[in-house]
Amino acid sequence: MSFAVPPLSPVSIEIADSTDCFPVARAFCIGRNYAEHSIEMGGNPDREEPFFFMKPATAIIPGGGTLPYPSATSELHHEVELVVALHKGGRDIKVADASSHIFGYAAGLDMTRRDLQAAAKKAGRPWDMAKGFDASGPVGVLVPAAASSHVTYAAIELTINGETRQKGNVNQMIWKTDEAIAYLSGLVELMAGDIIFTGTPAGVGPVERGDTLHATIAGLPDMTCRVS
Ligand code: MN
Repeated sequence: MSFAVPPLSPVSIEIADSTDCFPVARAFCIGRNYAEHSIEMGGNPDREEPFFFMKPATAIIPGGGTLPYPSATSELHHEVELVVALHKGGRDIKVADASSHIFGYAAGLDMTRRDLQAAAKKAGRPWDMAKGFDASGPVGVLVPAAASSHVTYAAIELTINGETRQKGNVNQMIWKTDEAIAYLSGLVELMAGDIIFTGTPAGVGPVERGDTLHATIAGLPDMTCRVS
């Protein structure tokens, strides 16, 4: 077969202690999945069903590195998140089976044009341009679940220029990773290569050009990004 335009190579994430890379199929994100962040965003953590949005796979920056300040915003926000990568797809996955679909875990950032998101919320419009812009999803090195066991209790933190901005524990998620996988697989058929950003703890805020963002999740490699 020949293509009319060059086909994209997959965006690939480095895997700890492996020469293989993880090819990203799609990137799903859960909104408001930590109670304190839900409250800071004006939600009610007791009553909401999980909801999802997406970033294109091309928005993922493997390993972090340089994050160009995006166009069309003056309020670029950080959201540090545990990222889960799937090595097995499926639909209507049961919560009890969900962990067997997990390849591994990484630290990531769900970068957000907060001003565009606020305008979209107000107008009842989609979030895509607030969430799925170029380079909006830095993801660090993946650690296979087989090597580290599942990440259900781990400190998660984001510092900017050495100062702590977000701090929590992944055990504070409202919808646990297994529940999120099960729920999402009732909405779409999941695929090997899909990754899921599992939500952010409280403390989101703006970043500026020149800032150094440092994301840490206990047991996973740190990820550093510089905003240019
Ligand atoms: Mn998020």
